[in-house]
Amino acid sequence: MDAPRPPPGAGAAGHPLGSAGRPVGLPHAWLVAQLAATTIHADRVLDGRGGEQRDVTVVVEGGRIARVERGRRGAVTYELGALTLLPGMIDAHAHLAWYFNRAGRLHTPADGDTPAQSMLSVAANAWATLRAGVTTVQSPGSAEDADLRDWIASGGVPGPRMLTSLEPIADARLTPDSLRALVRQRRAAGADFIKLFASKSIRDGGAQTMSDEQLRAACGEAASLGLRTLVHAHSAESMRAAALAGCTQVEHGVFATEDVLRLMAERGTWFDPQVCLVFRNYLDNRAHYEGIGNYNAEGFAAMERAIPLATAAFRRALATPGLNVVFGTDAVAGAHGRNVEELICRVRAGGQAPAAAVVSATSLAARALGMSDRIGAIAPGLEADLIAVDGDPSRDVEALRRVRFVMKGGEVYRHDGERR
Ligand SMILES: [Zn+2]
Repeated sequence: MDAPRPPPGAGAAGHPLGSAGRPVGLPHAWLVAQLAATTIHADRVLDGRGGEQRDVTVVVEGGRIARVERGRRGAVTYELGALTLLPGMIDAHAHLAWYFNRAGRLHTPADGDTPAQSMLSVAANAWATLRAGVTTVQSPGSAEDADLRDWIASGGVPGPRMLTSLEPIADARLTPDSLRALVRQRRAAGADFIKLFASKSIRDGGAQTMSDEQLRAACGEAASLGLRTLVHAHSAESMRAAALAGCTQVEHGVFATEDVLRLMAERGTWFDPQVCLVFRNYLDNRAHYEGIGNYNAEGFAAMERAIPLATAAFRRALATPGLNVVFGTDAVAGAHGRNVEELICRVRAGGQAPAAAVVSATSLAARALGMSDRIGAIAPGLEADLIAVDGDPSRDVEALRRVRFVMKGGEVYRHDGERR
């Protein structure tokens, strides 16, 4: 975190001015740094929209990208040399609130962890995620997300910018009217979008739970309030119901068929499938999960069986003309900071082109979040969310494991200059 910072005591307000208009009590060097632009030069820049430029200087002013210039004029603030500069990654599905407790088990409400221990664990997840080059996450979701989202946004805690659904809506016994009321309640409580469960967990078979009518009520109400809807759906029937109900995005879709994927493309429904990270993470951390809820022998067997099915569903999705397939990891306890492993699997096992994988985690993800006017590309006017990696991820996706520089909103959170 080597961006210019106010000295202790300067306060969050930034530039307190004296009666003569001169700054009071601030060292000259700090002020100059604040007023000057930050410049970043790299030999290779991926713009997040599929474009590549060589020998580029990005000029950052007031936390935003002011200009993208060819070449290098004089000294720059950050010379990244042979690293590749790209937009900060966006994970459309990550659960920062999930962590392993003091006993090494998945945290659950009555496990004895204090609220302070919980919040520190969650803050650590946020920091691990940001350090790994993910500058925005969408959390679907937890009630506790709101405070973390707001603290990160105020600059008080380092982490990715966050969108949250707050508590997901999963009760399939609710009437359409109560579902509509619940959607309004979430919005009033500050939810950025709505998360619904239209099917069972993959550990319980993934069959449809909410009826077509219930989905129409919830997704329709959300749309009328200007909120997007993310729908957990594994069976083809539940995915079809979500698409027909006008819901915005389908999560997981392990049992996706060609038919339902075509319908989603026609309806403009986004798809956020997972190929490996979430399953492998559960299997690798089995001892930390087993015995809690549906994390039992049957559940683990179902997840093992899901991996080849999920990979096949992902391949079918890529082959579906016009379908938007966005990057979302479903990162839970054990996976935070390893988000790019999902992207690497999508390329290695799922057959996605590395350059398309990068776009799915940048400009496409920004569109999925309704934020393409703010993030997801290296272009003038957008927030300065920039990362640099060792290698060229548009050709070698594993380069995304080698993050060396992270800037979010113009502030540098990571710069491993000496290890370049
Ligand atoms: Zn999830």
